[in-house]
Amino acid sequence: MNKKIDFMDEIVNKEGMSRRKALKLMGISPIAAAAIAGTGSGSITKAEASSASGKIVIVGAGAGGVMAMARLRRGLSNPDITIIAPNEKHLYQPGQVFMAAGEYTFDDIVKDNHDFIPDDVNWIKDEVKTFDPDNNKVVLRSGEEVSYDYLVVATGLQYHYEWIDGLTEDMIGKDGISSVYLNNAEKGTAEGGSITWDWFNDLKAAAKEGKPKVIYTQPNTPIKCGGAPQKILYLSDDYLKEAGLTADMTFATNGGKLFGAVPAVDKMLKEVVQPRYGNITNKFKHNLISIDAKNKLATFEHKYTEKGEYDEDLEEYDMINKNEKVVMSYDFIHIVPPMAAVDSVANSKLAWQKGSGKGWLEVDKHSLQHRRYKNVFGIGDICGVPKGKTGGSARHHAPIMVGNLISQMESEKLTESFDGYTVCPLKTQYGKIILAEFDYKGAAPSFPLAVEEPRWIWWAFDLYMLKPMYWHLMMRGLM
Ligand SMILES: Cc1cc2nc3c(=O)[nH]c(=O)nc-3n(C[C@H](O)[C@H](O)[C@H](O)COP(=O)(O)OP(=O)(O)OC[C@H]3O[C@@H](n4cnc5c(N)ncnc54)[C@H](O)[C@@H]3O)c2cc1C
Repeated sequence: MNKKIDFMDEIVNKEGMSRRKALKLMGISPIAAAAIAGTGSGSITKAEASSASGKIVIVGAGAGGVMAMARLRRGLSNPDITIIAPNEKHLYQPGQVFMAAGEYTFDDIVKDNHDFIPDDVNWIKDEVKTFDPDNNKVVLRSGEEVSYDYLVVATGLQYHYEWIDGLTEDMIGKDGISSVYLNNAEKGTAEGGSITWDWFNDLKAAAKEGKPKVIYTQPNTPIKCGGAPQKILYLSDDYLKEAGLTADMTFATNGGKLFGAVPAVDKMLKEVVQPRYGNITNKFKHNLISIDAKNKLATFEHKYTEKGEYDEDLEEYDMINKNEKVVMSYDFIHIVPPMAAVDSVANSKLAWQKGSGKGWLEVDKHSLQHRRYKNVFGIGDICGVPKGKTGGSARHHAPIMVGNLISQMESEKLTESFDGYTVCPLKTQYGKIILAEFDYKGAAPSFPLAVEEPRWIWWAFDLYMLKPMYWHLMMRGLM
């Protein structure tokens, strides 16, 4: 039996279900499992492919760009696809959290993009500097202009460590500062994973000597994988707990809840997960604005409202907006950087020009078609839609976006609709995950199990199955 699906036997034992049921529960047919194991034929039929034509340019070759490319190649009988992306390497970014936990190494999460981009796709290894949608062209860093009939924007987002006063990217990994997110798509590096694993161990060494103060932050911008800040909190706490150690931990988040999207998950985190550790203090509405690395001080902006005078006419209390600076000292800090759309999109006519989505790609939240430039579509983190900066969302975007793009090419009505699907495999301890799936309306579990329950089966699924599924199925447009 292939080693990659050996763990199914463990599930069968631990969760007490049949092998077929375990596969079914995970939405993996035996055929798909065979494909993951490398024994599937993987043959693609072109029988139903559209004969629509036109030059398609995809910008970005991460999760979204590659999935779009793979599906377009299958969906069109005569695809004319150019992909523009500088990165020779492809990172499986969710794996950075398992790197941080000491479960994966860097080699586990990186592959050559050549493995996914076939020779019949014109790959330009450069970056788009300027989008010019009025003239259906993009301008590259080299100065070359590339025109298109249809454009797919899949650039992802960018980090802004420098928006935190006193912080630069090269400070991550020094003086007790860590950040699991740190990576560089173009260079194909994922330092955040290994730095955070070292940080776990430094923390453990310090906890042997005393009770270190640790802060975990979450910023006031949209972030990819909204659960990652808490994944690091719980995993590091559990890592200490396993060794009989503890630390004084503060989760300082700009948000007002632990998990606003799904109330049942929020309740579980508050009432079961956090009390398990007994050493976590939450600081809501706290946004990290500056850091003094030398003196190990972090300054937060704390916004809140206070009850004022009672207004006799209105028969209600005035609510007064307050804003204070809060300085906290730390021995260790895990920083989640503010994130924003990549500059080339944010500074272009393709971006939302105002409102809460300002800077992000202005696509319709259901069709993923640009609202003003009808030959432009978006996939992945760059999309300015209310939910979903995850690989799981990009996987759900892919068939919808590609279906609608092909309809547009055929001058047909766009019928595919994205429901806002997002997934967060929230690691609550080593060996346990809450598989929080939700969409624009609320909880949207794919499986007939309570969405908020931390389960070993999801840990096994995430650790052993998702990565091969990502490489062998998602990146080939097969799921
Ligand atoms: C620590 C961490 C944990 C995560 N955990 C999870 C998880 O558990 N589950 C989950 O579903 N998701 C998770 N994610 C999120 C997931 O990795 C992203 O949502 C997903 O990769 C988004 O795909 P994308 O194609 O939009 O962006 P990316 O995969 O980041 O790819 C963007 C691509 O665009 C290229 N590019 C950028 N600008 C330009 C330009 N101007 N011109 C040309 N190319 C450009 C880049 O080089 C890159 O190739 C995690 C991410 C991190 C960092």
